[in-house]
Amino acid sequence: MAGEKKSAAPLRHYLLCPVCLRTQDSLSCHLRRVCMKDKTPPQILEVVEKAKKDVCDLLKNGRAFSYAVLKQIVSSPNPLKGLIEELKNHHLFVTGVPPPLPIGNPRLVTETLSECPGEAPGETEPSDVESCGSNELFQCRQEKTYTKDKMVKAKDLGILKKHSADHPLLKRFADYLKNDYENAKYQQEVDTVSRYLYFADPTEPSLKFVNDREKLRDFLGQQAKAGYKAQTSGNYIKCLKRFLEFHLTRTGLRQDDRELYNKCTLYLSFLTSSQSVLSKQASKEIVQKRHALLFDKSQPTPRECLAVLDKSEGDLVKIMNQLDDSSSSSLSRTECIFVLYYLEAIVILRHCQRPCVVQNMKVKEWLERKHADDDSIVFVKDHKTAAHFVVSIVLSKKEEAWFEKYYTKVRPQLLAGERKPPAKVQRPPGEQPGCTEGI
Ligand SMILES: [Zn+2]
Repeated sequence: MAGEKKSAAPLRHYLLCPVCLRTQDSLSCHLRRVCMKDKTPPQILEVVEKAKKDVCDLLKNGRAFSYAVLKQIVSSPNPLKGLIEELKNHHLFVTGVPPPLPIGNPRLVTETLSECPGEAPGETEPSDVESCGSNELFQCRQEKTYTKDKMVKAKDLGILKKHSADHPLLKRFADYLKNDYENAKYQQEVDTVSRYLYFADPTEPSLKFVNDREKLRDFLGQQAKAGYKAQTSGNYIKCLKRFLEFHLTRTGLRQDDRELYNKCTLYLSFLTSSQSVLSKQASKEIVQKRHALLFDKSQPTPRECLAVLDKSEGDLVKIMNQLDDSSSSSLSRTECIFVLYYLEAIVILRHCQRPCVVQNMKVKEWLERKHADDDSIVFVKDHKTAAHFVVSIVLSKKEEAWFEKYYTKVRPQLLAGERKPPAKVQRPPGEQPGCTEGI
């Protein structure tokens, strides 16, 4: 009846579900039953509390928009994106955002990216033991120059020379790594040990180095002079430890030479303590480097990095659409390469992975990807930080579809082109690509 006022129902704030972006009269119920079914009560509570805070903030501060800010956004190169972000700052969300409009020239992007292919594994000597745990995202050219300089210095300081790998002492160690550790890069580890053995005694590789702790300090000092990072030195020690462990456990040293055996045991603990000092130093270096990167004006901002992807997405979609059209499913080499670079850029720029992850991602890992809701997750095991964790790349539905097309339609064309160079050859349907490494 007109004029009759209902005062019984309390005024409820509808809270926004951050997962489905719909407002809910009881967010906690909704999350428990629908959007966060597999999460724990404390996790749900946290989301609810955040949603409450956001809605209060919206009521308190979010209802007015500054004309000056809007004007600035509207006159920017990508006004829609700016508006969406501004709304987000006010805890307001836009749903159904289409892919950004295509602007820009694919050739430009291809050239820029092709200068930056990432580092080839084991390309330069020190990198074989240099675990890239620093996680910096953009280090292509600078890093290379840096490595080169370091190599020259290291050579001058005489810390790169090594004994012949044919020496029985090194050969047996190589077999041990190959068989017991199934270490595919065992030779690098043998070389690392060999360099230290040479530094300790250039005449012949032997276990006598355990008699001289000062020598190790010298060696680490020279490495520091050459600009080696603590992490690299730490890896040298790791290899030396393994070398000693091999002699302590897999040879007749204990019976043959008890005194040397005891010395090796003591030296092993000396290495462990040196290692822990270095690892603390390494963490500091990593933090320093990240800190420096944050304040380095010449480094692109995350937004600038993503701009590359946004600008060329239209061109990618065009090429992808060509693949749907069966009459013109053969792409030019430039188009294939463009798709390849774009997908690499997704992994590196959007998913913040190191270039070596792109290089080591295997077809098998792609095929074994897991599906979770709308996303798919690719696990990459073999990358330079493999000692610490498996990299997981969470691809959106859209990205997954692109990768799927790449693997089924673009990659076979690329591989066919590599085998039969100049002619435009199309791979017969159903033929499997041979190579299984890298994207
Ligand atoms: Zn929801």
